Amino acid sequence: MLRKEEAHVVVLGAGFAGLAAARGLNVPGVRVTLIDKCNHHLFQPLLYQVATAALAAPDISSPIRKLLWRQRNATVLMGAVQRIEIEKKRVLVEGRHIDYDYLILATGMTHAYFGNDKWAAFAPGLKTVGEALDVRRRILRAFEAAEMETSPEVRRACTTFVVIGGGPTGVELAGALAEIAGRTLARDFRRFDPRTTRVILVEAGGRILSTFPEELSAKAQRQLEALGIEVRTGTRVTDVGDGYVEIGDESIATHTVLWAAGVRASPLATHLGVALDRMGRVWVQDDLSVPGRPEAFVAGDLIAMTQDGRPLPGVAQLALQSGRHVAKTIRCALAGKERPPFHYTDRGSMATIGRNKAVAAIGRFRFSGFFAWWLWLVVHLRSLVDFRSRLGVLFEWAWAYFTWQRGSRVILEVPSEPPTAKPSVVGQAVRVDSLTPEVAPVVRAAPAPAPRLPV
Ligand SMILES: Cc1cc2nc3c(=O)[nH]c(=O)nc-3n(C[C@H](O)[C@H](O)[C@H](O)COP(=O)(O)OP(=O)(O)OC[C@H]3O[C@@H](n4cnc5c(N)ncnc54)[C@H](O)[C@@H]3O)c2cc1C
Repeated sequence: MLRKEEAHVVVLGAGFAGLAAARGLNVPGVRVTLIDKCNHHLFQPLLYQVATAALAAPDISSPIRKLLWRQRNATVLMGAVQRIEIEKKRVLVEGRHIDYDYLILATGMTHAYFGNDKWAAFAPGLKTVGEALDVRRRILRAFEAAEMETSPEVRRACTTFVVIGGGPTGVELAGALAEIAGRTLARDFRRFDPRTTRVILVEAGGRILSTFPEELSAKAQRQLEALGIEVRTGTRVTDVGDGYVEIGDESIATHTVLWAAGVRASPLATHLGVALDRMGRVWVQDDLSVPGRPEAFVAGDLIAMTQDGRPLPGVAQLALQSGRHVAKTIRCALAGKERPPFHYTDRGSMATIGRNKAVAAIGRFRFSGFFAWWLWLVVHLRSLVDFRSRLGVLFEWAWAYFTWQRGSRVILEVPSEPPTAKPSVVGQAVRVDSLTPEVAPVVRAAPAPAPRLPV
């Protein structure tokens, strides 16, 4: 039963920010409802390893329920949030309304194709487990198609991989592709040599890893080139279609284009009715609340804020720190204390290029090569949210290091999606009896038919 004195905090999104916020609210007098369209928390920084067959999906994703089962004041709901009704202090999820006293919006970012959404079909991005498995399928199928092919031109297109975007994800993807072709698959095919595979990394800006110090960008480029990757900086993609990509004036025949270029904010940010930046992120107050709405907060990638004259980066550390901060602010508000301002602490950045190759910038220190790679391994292993994942990943990495093999090379067939359970509708009211007793009192029938927004 809902106790009158309990504040109900609704957290949207169980990424780094949402999970950190929910965990920070494990205090008396607070009840948390955490809502995510997936049933798992995903460790996105290692998603490219699932896409390139180094890790399996469960190695980097943990059921949200399992992560919060000890936290008795937290309820997890799986469902896509369709609308935030900021004036009425409620959200619409899968046709049901859920009221809140405090709201935390942490639904992160999605891909942006710079107004060319038709490219999405030919150049998948990497944001979810489903997308990583799709990318993996495309990569492995391209090699299989090359083995079957008799035309040298078509085979060439099958073994040409173009990665668009020279940020950490693009660099990591390109490096992993070169290693797959050059080592993992090198002896597996009879009718062509995988070592002739072409990997092209395209970056519109003047250098790859533009958020890193210039010297590290240059080192990373050299390390990529040592793996045989063609790095094209200052080059814009002008078109992507079935079997080709156009960069500048050049058309490249390829069957595998991977998108690691643009992102834009979750569309739910537009429901707050406040100013957004050009990527659709929310300009927040210094305590991370929404302007004019002291009960609503934003955390993680969705924050638009400058600190020391520079915009805050969309990284896992910001998500964790902001999630914890919002939880602290709500605790302060409930205790009648002053709300503390948010201050982001930059703990450095790193990107891996391949075995024994990485770059890292931590404070004044710059590392590259083996030490940076080792640092990258330790930091990522430590950051995985559950112990089982850590063990699994450690084992896979050790195995791969000594054998050059990748453990997840199975091409999965895509079954048709089973019908999802819908709320049972009686007349115009939605039955809430299937919900947990803790949640039921705050869930009311939505006016039918409840409009579904494209979120
Ligand atoms: C491929 C990749 C590699 C990266 N590598 C690094 C790295 O090496 N280092 C680093 O620091 N950062 C890295 N990042 C960035 C980092 O992962 C993000 O900054 C971080 O995940 C942001 O956390 P978040 O909680 O704001 O959002 P997310 O982690 O994106 O979580 C958002 C959650 O909201 C849910 N959601 C979205 N819309 C809805 C909806 N309508 N209804 C219900 N739920 C919804 C999603 O399912 C998701 O669980 C990487 C990101 C990607 C994609």
